[in-house]
Amino acid sequence: MISSLHRPTLAKVDLSAISSNIKQVQDYVPQSVKTFAVVKANAYGHGAVAVASHTQRLVDGFCVSNIDEGIELRQAGIRKPILVLGVVLPGEVPLARDYRLALTIASLEWLELAQAKSLDLSNLLVHIAVDSGMGRIGVRSLAEANDLIAGLRQAGCQVKGIFTHFATADEADDRKFQEQLAFFKELVAGLDYCPELVHASNSATSLWHSEGILNALRLGLVIYGLNPSGQELSLPYKIKPALSLETALVHVKKVPAGADVGYGATYTSSQEEWIGTLPLGYADGWTRDMQGFDVLVAGQRCPIVGRVSMDQITIRLPQSYPLGTKVTLIGKNGDQLISATDVAQQRGTINYEVLCLLSDRVPREYK
Ligand SMILES: *Cc1c(COP(=O)(O)O)cnc(C)c1O
Repeated sequence: MISSLHRPTLAKVDLSAISSNIKQVQDYVPQSVKTFAVVKANAYGHGAVAVASHTQRLVDGFCVSNIDEGIELRQAGIRKPILVLGVVLPGEVPLARDYRLALTIASLEWLELAQAKSLDLSNLLVHIAVDSGMGRIGVRSLAEANDLIAGLRQAGCQVKGIFTHFATADEADDRKFQEQLAFFKELVAGLDYCPELVHASNSATSLWHSEGILNALRLGLVIYGLNPSGQELSLPYKIKPALSLETALVHVKKVPAGADVGYGATYTSSQEEWIGTLPLGYADGWTRDMQGFDVLVAGQRCPIVGRVSMDQITIRLPQSYPLGTKVTLIGKNGDQLISATDVAQQRGTINYEVLCLLSDRVPREYK
């Protein structure tokens, strides 16, 4: 999708907030621990190339979710190690080798398929995924881990790492977390060959479970300055949100009492009211369930009235404002703040989703 530059809707990304968030986490873990910045899904909507370019001197590598995201970074000149976190089917091995992307290998069946296809695995970089209770990908026993690592090494792969992923590191109840950690540690202790990188730590683990840090971190949401638990757990130190979403009034009118607004005429003015129109909608990721939530104009909260359309939304203003007046959807305006976590609460979802759903139509501006 082409991004729409000639309208006032844009996401401002403060890259220095991202680097200071990374340093902040690093300050709280032992120096020997390696840091991988997770820049999948276009760096959670912040722009993968911009984020990776800006942070590459601070980190030991990057994580992406698929081959294409890795290729994008390589084509932009990123030279640090890149780990593809998702499972890639064996047919993509030649691309992974060409672009020096480390693949996540999650089963013996994958290796057997690659060998049945007579794929050349020599010097392919791999990390082994262990399913310690997340139930998504990975080997589920020590025997399979040992067989897989032995088979991959025999095929000439460089087995660089082994990792697991926690299902509940962002929750106050840590029983499942501890079970997963114990399973993973015991499995690693039993390996015939232990790779150099042993990692389990997403943002939540890095923040709240130092015992799960092992020797490398995979930092996603925290580097973008948001709390991975939403509101459940409080942050042990300050981090700074990197993204704000802004637009401007493009139409302002006074309507009499009884005027309908938007599709379905779901809103009718109860008195004389000022209604403003903003140039963004669900095609930008400002989904229809934002009806009834607020935006910020001149430091005041103003409700979104009427349905969210594909490309426009309507808000109720306390008074008239000139066309071009700045409107904040995520971020600070005067003394008021709307965070991505607040938006997520309105939608019954998580802040991750709010950021990732901002579409390519919204330009990203960096400072
Ligand atoms: C997305 C992802 C991460 C990063 O998660 P955050 O909660 O954003 O830190 C880490 N590891 C894996 C396997 C992931 O898929």
